[in-house]
Amino acid sequence: ASSSCWEHRVVLLGDPGVGKTSLANAFAGIQERDVLEQHGEAAYERTLLVDGEETTLLVMDTWEPERKGESWRRNQCLQMGNAYVIVYSITDRSSFESASELRIHLRRARQAEDIPIILVGNKSDLVRCREVSIEEGRACAVVFDCKFIETSAALQHNVDELFEGVVRQLRLRREGK
Ligand code: GDP
Repeated sequence: ASSSCWEHRVVLLGDPGVGKTSLANAFAGIQERDVLEQHGEAAYERTLLVDGEETTLLVMDTWEPERKGESWRRNQCLQMGNAYVIVYSITDRSSFESASELRIHLRRARQAEDIPIILVGNKSDLVRCREVSIEEGRACAVVFDCKFIETSAALQHNVDELFEGVVRQLRLRREGK
């Protein structure tokens, strides 16, 4: 199947180093590496059983730092998702500020649409290096009208909960139509 057929493309956004690839790996599980070759190296597929119903997500880890003359790449990411996971690191305040900017870019790119967005504070295991409190994360999600969760890709903490949440958000919108 070509990726354009997918109804549940989930795009990861966020600064370099916040843990997007680690989250995608934790989502997919090591044993499913061969799937990567089918979709290009940055897409991860898994079928989740959520509330008694199966849904297949294709998680895309294609977001890159801005390069001169290549803003089309970023634009493509902002256009292709059916849902978005905006990741920051709780140990890096500037990545938290970037997350807000990304939310604004996304809103501009997809103005009239009601797409699920989850704000994720990753690296929750690094308690001593924390620069962004859980309250700040929650408050930001309220302002930006999206869901919020803290995860640790390293400890696999809340990673399943994150993607189950994405599935539920997608279903809520499908049922609302
Ligand atoms: P990306 O650039 O956003 O894709 O980030 P990566 O997934 O490449 O992760 C950047 C670095 O952070 C790597 O060294 C990861 O091992 C580390 N990392 C990612 N997630 C976590 C986490 O939840 N906890 C800890 N302690 N380290 C993490």
